[in-house]
Amino acid sequence: MQLLDPWSEPLPAAWRQMEEVPSHKQIASIFLVPSCDMVCPFCAADTDLDTMAAAQARLLLRELRQRNIRNVVFGGGEPYLWPHNLHELCEFAQDLGHFVQVCTNGGTLPSDFAESRAVDRFVLPLEAMNPELHDRLRIWPRGGGRHHAAILTRLRQLTEAEKPFTISTVVTRSNIQEVEAIGRFLLCLAQSGARLHAWHLYRFIAVGRAGSRNAGAHAITSEEFSNACRLARASAPRVAIYGRMNMRRPSSVEYFWLQRGTLQIGSIAYDR
Ligand code: SF4
Repeated sequence: MQLLDPWSEPLPAAWRQMEEVPSHKQIASIFLVPSCDMVCPFCAADTDLDTMAAAQARLLLRELRQRNIRNVVFGGGEPYLWPHNLHELCEFAQDLGHFVQVCTNGGTLPSDFAESRAVDRFVLPLEAMNPELHDRLRIWPRGGGRHHAAILTRLRQLTEAEKPFTISTVVTRSNIQEVEAIGRFLLCLAQSGARLHAWHLYRFIAVGRAGSRNAGAHAITSEEFSNACRLARASAPRVAIYGRMNMRRPSSVEYFWLQRGTLQIGSIAYDR
């Protein structure tokens, strides 16, 4: 694999495509690492990305800041499996003036994660209020398959620490009937004092390491997804709800990752 010299000037050719990032993209989602300790059947993440070196991630953060993008989301795979120091990277990003979010599966987190000052907001998944159904969609071998219980614990920890968080749900054929129950739960959570920033609903798309081979079980129509979003809004009034018809083409988020040593940018890579 050809690795970039992250400190070379001028910028390596691979990074010049940063110039092409559309100006309306205000949030950068950075895939730090491909590995994950879960095997979700709807997973849309690709496996053939590189683990970003710490210096490469820092360079990217600097470049984003220069382009007036100041909201970053660290993801993967699972960002807590990044073999470098995620806490230090978050601090570095904050020092540059970024608002820092970590999008984690919530399984294996540091015990004091909720108190971390280096993370401004967490993004956690919740696929169903029915634990068995959630655990069938969020398969977590390392945690004995009890991911739903782990997420509820994380939400309690975040609430007690008064740390803001966002919930994400991938709406599939299997859990579409759970949307109202999740909405009612999130409304109660918000009313109990949790700093719930938003609820993001993503329509399942048949791409990635697992989604591409599980379309038959999980695909829903755009109409079904729109109806699910309507039900979500009715069940959780006063909760900010965003429905994403195509999770690979969000309007305000740009994705960044390395592949064979080359920077990839979602709006460019997905158009190829
Ligand atoms: S969807 Fe599941 S398997 Fe895929 S990266 Fe997220 S937690 Fe890991």
